[in-house]
Amino acid sequence: MNLHEHQAAEIFASHGIRTNGGNVAFNPQEAETLAESAAGPVVIKAQVHTGGRGKAGGVKLARTPAEARDAASAILGLDIRGHIVRKVLVAPAADIAQEFYLGVTLDRTRRRNVLMASAEGGVDIEEVARERPDRIVRALVDPFLGLHAWQARQVGFALGLAADKVPGFATLARQLYDTYLNEDATLAEINPLVLTGNGEWLALDAKMAIDDNALFRHPAFESLRDLDAEDPTELDARQSGISFVKLDGDIGCIVNGAGLAMATMDAVKLHGGDPANFLDVGGGASADQVAKAFSLVTADPNVRAILINIFGGITRGDVVAQGITEALRRVDVPVPIVVRLSGTNAEEGQRILSEAGLTASQSMDEAAAEAVRAAHAA
Ligand code: GDP
Ligand code: MN
Repeated sequence: MNLHEHQAAEIFASHGIRTNGGNVAFNPQEAETLAESAAGPVVIKAQVHTGGRGKAGGVKLARTPAEARDAASAILGLDIRGHIVRKVLVAPAADIAQEFYLGVTLDRTRRRNVLMASAEGGVDIEEVARERPDRIVRALVDPFLGLHAWQARQVGFALGLAADKVPGFATLARQLYDTYLNEDATLAEINPLVLTGNGEWLALDAKMAIDDNALFRHPAFESLRDLDAEDPTELDARQSGISFVKLDGDIGCIVNGAGLAMATMDAVKLHGGDPANFLDVGGGASADQVAKAFSLVTADPNVRAILINIFGGITRGDVVAQGITEALRRVDVPVPIVVRLSGTNAEEGQRILSEAGLTASQSMDEAAAEAVRAAHAA
């Protein structure tokens, strides 16, 4: 789950990191009022779940409340890489002497959390990584020992900081690491982290993504979810207990079990097709779940064929087949459907499916090939 800058900044602040504060405005008048009470220049920033807002015109400085109102009205409603701006942050403008990048994330290849920093802050870090990789300093964190103070200081020196700036940087780096760990984040990032004109460290931007699998440990985060910013189909799926990820292909997949769903997408690719989605209906595959899955998959106009892949373990094949036929009575599915059904009571299930006029196979390979043929023929 992605957080907005103002939400992440509040969490950073609760871990002792100095942030820029500010308040959220939903219209130009509110922005003007907030700028009046700030009594000084402010920065108006689009709150959307994407970076690069600065370049896209989503960050503006305003010297007066009237300028703040105009900046807010220019930013609100902007489309920044497919994200419509519905709110802006109004924060006191900072006096920037130097910009840095600081982030914590998981390095999957090294299987450790990694602290990353760069003296080329404020710009797109992916660009720095691509073009000047030597300008990014990294410290891998031992999961049992945590981020050592000496590691944080070493990163500070590698950034070329003056010795008197290193202790403050090291404290901040460890606070960011603690935030990442304690809040079960997959990313905690400050870009730019700045040194102000009077030599203080200040987090001018805040980016955080929370591990969805850990959300049960943080019930309060649920209220931070921005329903406007989420894919409506994925949201709908989550509310029905279905794992769904939209992809770019044209073969809709309905599968029980996440592992089998991954294997199904591979089988589709092996036969020269492209999956339109990942979908795990969960254990049961009842008529309700299957009907929901059909409507999720057919909501995508690119879908030309549907491949249903069910392995009956505890789930019985005949019950699943009844679920499928029952679901088809409720939902109109305008594309060919290929079913692979094997395992417990598969023969009975296949009989039910053929009576309903569906192509059913015991072989995943055959079914995938058939689905690809059907999609290409459509
Ligand atoms: P992003 O482009 O989405 O990452 O948005 P940021 O919050 O990082 O803002 C982009 C850039 O705007 C920063 O790198 C700064 O250079 C500038 N900026 C943001 N806040 C302030 C501020 O308070 N004062 C000044 N002078 N510049 C700011
Ligand atoms: Mn930024």
